[in-house]
Amino acid sequence: MLGSVSVRVRFAPSPTGELHIGSVRTTLYNFFFARQNNGTLILRIEDTDQARFDPRALPSIYDGLRWIGIDWDEGPREGGPHGPYVQSERLGLYQEHARRLVELGAAYFCFCSPERLAQVRAAQRARGDPVTRYDRFCRRIDAMEAADRATRDAHVVRLKVPDEGTIGIDDLVHGHVEWPLASIDDQVLLKSDGFPTYQLAVVIDDHVMGITHVLRGDEWLPSTPKHLLVYRAFGWDVPPHGHLPSVLGTEGGKKLSKREGAAVVAVAEFREGGYLPEALVNYLALVGWAPGSEDEVFTIDELVRRWRIDQVQKGGGRWDPERLKWFNGVWIRRLSDDELLHRLDPFVPSEWDRAVVRAALPIIKERMETLTQAKELLGFLFTDDLPTDPTRLLPKKRTAPETRDAIARARAALAANGAFSKPAIQAALEGAAAQLGWKQGDVNMAVRLAVTGTNVGPPLYESIALLGRDRALARLSHAEAVLAGPDPARS
Ligand code: GLU
Repeated sequence: MLGSVSVRVRFAPSPTGELHIGSVRTTLYNFFFARQNNGTLILRIEDTDQARFDPRALPSIYDGLRWIGIDWDEGPREGGPHGPYVQSERLGLYQEHARRLVELGAAYFCFCSPERLAQVRAAQRARGDPVTRYDRFCRRIDAMEAADRATRDAHVVRLKVPDEGTIGIDDLVHGHVEWPLASIDDQVLLKSDGFPTYQLAVVIDDHVMGITHVLRGDEWLPSTPKHLLVYRAFGWDVPPHGHLPSVLGTEGGKKLSKREGAAVVAVAEFREGGYLPEALVNYLALVGWAPGSEDEVFTIDELVRRWRIDQVQKGGGRWDPERLKWFNGVWIRRLSDDELLHRLDPFVPSEWDRAVVRAALPIIKERMETLTQAKELLGFLFTDDLPTDPTRLLPKKRTAPETRDAIARARAALAANGAFSKPAIQAALEGAAAQLGWKQGDVNMAVRLAVTGTNVGPPLYESIALLGRDRALARLSHAEAVLAGPDPARS
């Protein structure tokens, strides 16, 4: 509760594609605000632009937000006292309000054809006008005549923006913002097909759904004066608005999008890419909000307690994929081994023995940044398909005979090793390096290539211990044979 007001906030995605992380960030802020005020969170689907409707959007919103850990109280599937929650199912309401605005003298019927509008725009462009706008041709038609024509002729309903004066709002993020009315176009509110535009539907719905705080992306700030005129015409109170900074791409000042070069923007792609919802929530919350302290690792519950609208920044927050990866690593290390095993399930082959994977987690946890890396890091435990190409077994600048010699010594040292524990393995390989007069790194690389087949991977001594003595020795012998040249018995 904020004072005596019971908070009701909404997030209102347009179903035009897969759930985008910019949209999730806006949703998160509404979620934090609702939950910290014991308020109600509403999902409203803004599908008035039917040409851009994408049937994948709604399932993607539901799956994505559930995965993230956001729940809401009223919505298309949840129902609620103000349904339906899909704008295309509320057309009558908008049509009625558009008519009422015309009666109130705050809007008018416009009969201009698309061709005429195109000519007007072309003429304005030719004249060098900085923006094109409707020339208010139909505003001059007598009201009675227009009402009569509207019963027969195709038309839209336009907002009648006063010629003079200003209109403003005290924005929760931007402070006082004011617009000269002369700069505002006579916006279409109701289209000729009977669908409202966003500009009308958003005001009607926010009002009739009892929204107490409008928290939305700052791309809608320039539309706000139009909304304010609609509120004013109906004599409705304007709820506090907060325009949230956009999530910006890594280059330039543009919004994060595939078009601006971002590789990944859909929530589903992060999920499939091995990101934890905890990390995405944590990082996204910080894109546009500064907690005012050094702390930066927060659970969603901590965010609900700590996030404050007055700490939201005006300027857009830059999306930094590397920082997200860092958070993901932090959150991976915060999981228990049992939980990590569970999260890894979709990312490692189903035939891999879960007990083996679990035993290996301590050695990969430290270096994992995404869940997808586990498959590569642990592959050596699950395949005995070893390199048969001698060049893949050579450390840099080492020849086959000397590498073979080094591996033979390492194998002998390991074979003599009683415990086969990490310290014992380390001691054995250090002994081999001393005998050879090789740098430890070179011996270890030769052993790593022979035992794991790759030059990167989890810490070597632990990897060998996990593999077990028999398999490790067999792999070293195999490498020696490969390095000795073609084996006539095998060809
Ligand atoms: N439907 C708008 C969008 O998808 C949201 C506008 C609003 O929250 O008022 O960006």
